[in-house]
Amino acid sequence: MIEAGPAPGGQLHHVHFHPRELPGLPAGDGPAIAATFAHQLRDSGVPVRCDTAAASLGSADPRGRPWVESSAGERFEADAVLVATGVRRRCLEVPGERELEDRGVSYSATRDLRSLAGRDVVVVGGGDGAFENALILAGAGCRVLLALLEEPRARREFRDRVARERSIEVVEGVRVNAFLGADRLEAVELEGPDGPFVRKASGAVIKVGVIPNTEWCRAVLDHDGEGFIRVDPRHRASRPAVWAAGDVTRPPLLGITVAFGAAALAVADVRATLRGE
Ligand SMILES: Cc1cc2nc3c(=O)[nH]c(=O)nc-3n(C[C@H](O)[C@H](O)[C@H](O)COP(=O)(O)OP(=O)(O)OC[C@H]3O[C@@H](n4cnc5c(N)ncnc54)[C@H](O)[C@@H]3O)c2cc1C
Repeated sequence: MIEAGPAPGGQLHHVHFHPRELPGLPAGDGPAIAATFAHQLRDSGVPVRCDTAAASLGSADPRGRPWVESSAGERFEADAVLVATGVRRRCLEVPGERELEDRGVSYSATRDLRSLAGRDVVVVGGGDGAFENALILAGAGCRVLLALLEEPRARREFRDRVARERSIEVVEGVRVNAFLGADRLEAVELEGPDGPFVRKASGAVIKVGVIPNTEWCRAVLDHDGEGFIRVDPRHRASRPAVWAAGDVTRPPLLGITVAFGAAALAVADVRATLRGE
């Protein structure tokens, strides 16, 4: 197994609570569960190479054994490759976002609830994540402006709860131009149909979706318009001897149990294929 980061566990390292919808695992937050999995990997004898990022995927000929080449130029040839490189958060890429991260600008209300509680906060995004974060902040005494570029995509339950929540104001058709502040976030510059306007805020939470980590294999595998790998029901990708599983395939629900289940299906098919069944 090759892993780009310093330790296996992926997004679990960003789950600062006991993950929801996760039956059968001992209590603990994401990093604790990641550590349990890392022990299991070690105990099962799977060699794990951390700090080793896959940079390209190929094979000597289109039907030949695949290889993965790391960013350091090391080539790993194999009978089968399972792509499980997951997703990363999407950023707005506007002025002030990077500079004021963790100084008012956040990507998770849960993680930063203590510092955001009671403040004026702008939440950016229109999906489940944005609506859920707005509700969490309202519950912590914040006055929330929920800024959506387009119509809401959040599930009905969240939309209804937001509509009932007096401390959440929803504005549609607005984009963020910049996060403003010298040392800490002081305001957010937004732009709507009537032009730019500035909203004072000492907190902002950005929830604008995820990007699949597939830049390294997109050139050789079929993918959708956003780069998520297309697979068949057995999790085979478009190239022989290559499978993909987990968030990187855009399952209908991005979640740990879904990734487990998909990986189990993929591995079962890898095994059957290698045995010639
Ligand atoms: C804040 C937060 C809260 C969440 N809460 C929950 C929850 O409560 N319940 C739940 O079920 N799910 C939750 N999730 C989602 C869950 O964590 C993911 O669905 C799950 O981790 C997906 O697993 P994965 O293996 O597909 O991908 P990931 O966890 O994204 O793992 C992919 C791995 O691939 C590595 N990688 C990426 N690119 C390369 C490369 N080029 N070469 C080598 N390695 C690479 C990454 O470093 C990473 O370790 C949450 C996610 C976040 C961010």
